Order: sequence, then C-alpha cells, then structure tokens
Amino acid sequence: MAERQKVIAGNAFHTPEPGAMVPLVDCAIAVDSDGTIQSVTTPPDPDHSAILDAAKVANALEQLPPDTYLIPGLVDLHIHAPQWPQLGKALDVPLDAWLDTYTFPLEVKFADHAYAAEIYDDLVTTLLSHGTTTAVYFGSVDLQANVILAETCLRHGQRAVIGKVAMDHPETCPDYYRDESAEEAIAQTRKFIEMVAEMQSGRPTLVHPAITPRFIPSCTDALLGGLGALARETGCHVQTHCSESDWEVAHVQNRLGQTDTEALANFGLMTDKSILAHSNYITCGDMDLIAKAQSAIAHCPLSNAYFANSVFPARDAMDRGLKIGLGTDVSGGFSPSLFDAARFALMASRNRSSGTNPSLAAAERGTAEIPLSTSEVFWLATKGGGEAVSLPVGSFNEGSKFDAIAVKSGHSTSGFRTYSTDTYQDIFEKLVLTADVSSITRVWVSGAAIDHL
Ligand SMILES: [Zn+2]
Repeated sequence: MAERQKVIAGNAFHTPEPGAMVPLVDCAIAVDSDGTIQSVTTPPDPDHSAILDAAKVANALEQLPPDTYLIPGLVDLHIHAPQWPQLGKALDVPLDAWLDTYTFPLEVKFADHAYAAEIYDDLVTTLLSHGTTTAVYFGSVDLQANVILAETCLRHGQRAVIGKVAMDHPETCPDYYRDESAEEAIAQTRKFIEMVAEMQSGRPTLVHPAITPRFIPSCTDALLGGLGALARETGCHVQTHCSESDWEVAHVQNRLGQTDTEALANFGLMTDKSILAHSNYITCGDMDLIAKAQSAIAHCPLSNAYFANSVFPARDAMDRGLKIGLGTDVSGGFSPSLFDAARFALMASRNRSSGTNPSLAAAERGTAEIPLSTSEVFWLATKGGGEAVSLPVGSFNEGSKFDAIAVKSGHSTSGFRTYSTDTYQDIFEKLVLTADVSSITRVWVSGAAIDHL
C-alpha cells in the first residue's frame, strides 16, 4: 500500500448514488502519496481520532474552517477547447452560420501553436478555478495543438480526456479546415494516442487520449470505420456528438438509413469508454443499444437550448440506468461552470415535466415525469461524470482519487450563505444552487492542491 501522505478534515458532501446526498460531518479523508483515498472516517469510527492525531504529529493535517465544505471535483464531459475565445459570442445565429462563420474559422487558428498555448493556458486555469477537476475536451484538427492542450493540463494538474478532432468529409467540412483524408485522420489520431502516452511515461496517467470523430455528418464512412477499428485496437476513450438536432438526425437517416446510435455501433464506435454528447433524439432502441454497450451520455442542457431544438429526456435515461453526466459544451454553451450546467439541467428537466405552453391544459402541457432533483444533478456533475468517463473520481470513497474542491459560504460576492438554522441538507442544496467561482477556495486533483488558485 502506498504511504499516507495527508489527511483533509472538515465537513463534506457527496452523492455516491444518484439522488442520495451523504453528509460527512467532521470527517477525515486520508489520502496516500498516489492521490488515492485510503480511508474516510467520521467521529463515531473507532480509528478516527488516531488518524487525526497521527496526521497532526506528521504535520500532514489540513483542517478546513467550519464555514467551508468539501465536495468532489466537478467533471465536464463535453467541452470544445478551441472554442474558448468565442465564449458567449454569436449564439443567436443558426447552427450552420455558427459553425461556418465563427467556429471553424476560430478552430483552424489553433494551427498557430503560440496562439494555442496562450488560449489553452487561460482555459485550463479558468476551469480549475471553477472546480472542474476532470475535463473531456474536443481539441482541434491540428495534431500539435492537441499535444499543447495535453501538456497544459499536465502542467497545471488537471485530469483530462483529450481528442484530436477527426473530420474529413469534403461535402460538410470546409476546404480550409478538414483532415486531408480518412487515412491521414486515422494516422494522426494514432500518433496523438502514442504522444499522450509518451509524455506521461514513468508517471501516473492524468491525461487520456480519445478517438474523436466530430460527428457523423463531418466524417466519411471510411473514417468512421477506421476510427472504430482503432478504438477496438487501443481500448481508448471515444467521444463524438450523437443525435443532437433535427438537422443532424435527418442527415444521418438520409445518408445511412439509421439512427446515430445504430450507425456508431455499426462503425465500432460504441464502447464502454464512449461518451456521446447530447443524444437528445435517441429512441428507446437507441437507449437499449447504449446500455448494452455501456457507453455514456454527456447531457449539455445549456447548449441544447440553443442548438438541439428539444430537451434531453434525462429522467428516462436515468431510470434506465444509463451512464450520464454533464457537459458545458463550451462554446455552444456560454458558461464554463459545471454548477451552471447542473442548474440548467434542473431547469430543463422541470420545463420538460410541466411543459412550456400555457395555452394548453395542465394535463397536456408536459411529460409529467418526475423532474431531476438537486441531489441528482449534483450526482451528474460528480459521480455520474466519473462513471461516464470510466475514471475513479466523483465521490469520497476508499480507492477513489482525491479530486475535490473546498467551497466557502459567506463570500461577499457569492450568494452562498449559511445560517445556524440550516440543516446539512439545506446547506448542500444552497451550495449546489448558489455557489460560484468566488466560493471555491481550494482545488485538489489526485491529492495535489492546485497552486495557481
Ligand atoms: Zn459539442
């Protein structure tokens, strides 16, 4: 067993299961030198005092103040790193104009590696400040820019899954921004996988490569099949967009006569390490396919409000036990905060349940499903995300990595306030719904405190 490195003590919350917040009052979390949680104890446990005393003697105790609460680090399952400079911009235009006029011209700029380094440094540090300890990034087409993103995550200590975007279809991708051929895109993806392994050889893995076909419309069949074979060969993560919008669903049906999910499965791209962004239009059959493959869904409620033409059926998917977490989908979404993503997921779910058209009778207005709860959206942002990305993060369990954030109540610029009349459930709900970047006082990844904060 690895040697004990430190003990973090204080009040904590986590949701090891959806919908079940567990308070850890006056807990002590012992973390070994690999950043793995060795034990989680509270005062009734027989060895709790001894763990605290030993840590004090070893000068390895970090005691959080009583107004500060420890929660698992937040997991962003879907974010486009090269879209960071246009956060909040041009969201009133239709998707085709958003891609052609703004997004593709921006993403191609990352072939300028000095520009990539500058933007990615700002992005990674900002996300860490917001409590995002794991990010699943779409990169850009240019191989080296993705290497720079991986190096940036390693330098700042952010856990990440990163993909070189593959897109080769001459009819849907602009001439100035696409892979030269399916073979070239596959070779570059393979090279990226090798380079990510090389840059971490001899040390614990923090950054994982992902096979990343942008979405079916932007890839030829040869590319999709080749990347599926590469996924089988390497066992790497896979990420792509799935059944996002009316246009996209119709495109795939017209071209392949299948749903996105069926097509991805046939191309070998639905594995137990696949993350499907959006998936708003998946059918019951698609949900069965996703469950069978043990693939995961990145629910991106904010971006859906702009580009998906519908609300994702989160309740159905959760009831079926699908692996689901949250994505900011920067910059299809305008916020880098997973707290915001959780809040938008709540609002979307409530609107879906009660409906939106007041001219209809109440019984006809919505789906009447049970809306997501505060505990459930917190689970999506933490443990659900960890399970979706197949990494041991998102809860304070023995054997999990200590990825965590400390959230302080009463900061003058945040709405997160607590009072002596608040129960732990009250404080938890307030934290999830009102904490913001100014409330976050400390961030750890794999037991290491992030030092730029
Ligand atoms: Zn996206």
